[in-house]
Amino acid sequence: MRILYVEDEKFLAEAVIHMLKKEKISVDWASDGEEGLKLALKPNYDAIVLDIMLPNLSGLDILRSLREHGIKTPVIMLSALNEVEDKIRGLDFGADDYLAKPFKTAELIARLRALLRRPALVEAEILNFEDLELNLTNRTLNNIELTDKEASIIEMLIKTPNSTVAKEQILAHVWGADSVYEENYVEVYMSYLRKKLRAAKSKVKIKTVRNLGYKLCLEN
Ligand code: CA
Repeated sequence: MRILYVEDEKFLAEAVIHMLKKEKISVDWASDGEEGLKLALKPNYDAIVLDIMLPNLSGLDILRSLREHGIKTPVIMLSALNEVEDKIRGLDFGADDYLAKPFKTAELIARLRALLRRPALVEAEILNFEDLELNLTNRTLNNIELTDKEASIIEMLIKTPNSTVAKEQILAHVWGADSVYEENYVEVYMSYLRKKLRAAKSKVKIKTVRNLGYKLCLEN
């Protein structure tokens, strides 16, 4: 087992690494967020142990970035704050487990082993409509890659096919309620998505409902 451990507290890190090595777990150590992210993006690890409070980039930033890059390496978050909020945010961002500081290294090792025994990390979340298959886990539409925003938009449409989704609703969902983005962002993304529907040779199209929004339906 090889893990990446991102922790800025040197003495703690050394103590934990010492224990992990005794358990025949290889460890790469990063002492700040930027270095942590750089290493975490490499496909070298069975698991990543991420402290939340770090210089440069927080553990949550690293986690979010990893998941955005589609890297699904199991992550255990560490936090001295032991706040419910941190825990929820971490799990929201795709952490697999959470350990409050101070912790016993034996506990960390047990959690790492438990994590790596898990057969499948996540079952793919798939939505279907007619000949379309949206895979939210890999972010693909009929195996064509989507960006984050494209996936969020098509997800909204595919969940309520044949009915109009308001442009404002899409703006609020994808760009945030008080976003500074303009309505034509939605149009631009619709044109990207239409291109992908054509590339997928789908019979489904995105119909513009004038002055209202968009709906996903079969082409006539
Ligand atoms: Ca720290």
